[in-house]
Amino acid sequence: MPGAFDGRLALVTGAGRGIGAAIAEALAAEGAHVVLTARTSAELEAVEEKIHAAGGSATIAPMDLTEPDAIARLAQAVAERWPALDILILNAAMLGTLTPVAQIDGKELNRLLTLRAAWRLDQGRMSDADAAMAKLYASEMLGRVTDQAVQIFGGMGLMSDLPVERFWRDARVERIWDGTSEIQRHIISRSMLRERGA
Ligand SMILES: Cc1cc2nc3c(=O)[nH]c(=O)nc-3n(C[C@H](O)[C@H](O)[C@H](O)COP(=O)(O)OP(=O)(O)OC[C@H]3O[C@@H](n4cnc5c(N)ncnc54)[C@H](O)[C@@H]3O)c2cc1C
Repeated sequence: MPGAFDGRLALVTGAGRGIGAAIAEALAAEGAHVVLTARTSAELEAVEEKIHAAGGSATIAPMDLTEPDAIARLAQAVAERWPALDILILNAAMLGTLTPVAQIDGKELNRLLTLRAAWRLDQGRMSDADAAMAKLYASEMLGRVTDQAVQIFGGMGLMSDLPVERFWRDARVERIWDGTSEIQRHIISRSMLRERGA
């Protein structure tokens, strides 16, 4: 019996497990050739095997979509191999550690806030507070990290012979330009008060 997507090419992000894997398998069962992307190769291989075992066809492309060049590389690889991409399922997401915010690793929280702002921008729903949270946290974290780096090197950390002095000095401006940290805090607190009707 012909499938609803015979001869079609589908690309599913976050296809290593869960909803993404299930969508990929369903598309393959309906005749689509499915390009599976996710960060973990072993998970993609398992989904690919399942699709092949069921008589479908799939190609795996392990990648981290948050890497700056990843999407361009993927688009080029697809364009070189197939005439067109018919179905695109954007299912990749990042779930942070489920714990009170104060206990989340700073680097992870930074990533989550930035991805959240980008996601909301993509949906046309980004607020000033979303951008302020991402900018404030990233620039304050950068300040802390570069300050620690100088401390580790001691007096040498302040010498221009080492790049760490430049990292520290360059990072300092991030808390000033494009809205100082104090102004970002104003924006966030105003938004929180507005949400509570104050
Ligand atoms: C290297 C560099 C490049 C720049 N490039 C550009 C550019 O290309 N385009 C551009 O438009 N601008 C640019 N700027 C300007 C930058 O955006 C401003 O420096 C920034 O907005 C802060 O303004 P300000 O320097 O006048 O500080 P001020 O507004 O005078 O603030 C001084 C201090 O007071 C605090 N403060 C001010 N108001 C409040 C308040 N209401 N509550 C609490 N604290 C407050 C601030 O947080 C800050 O700590 C650049 C700045 C630098 C340093």
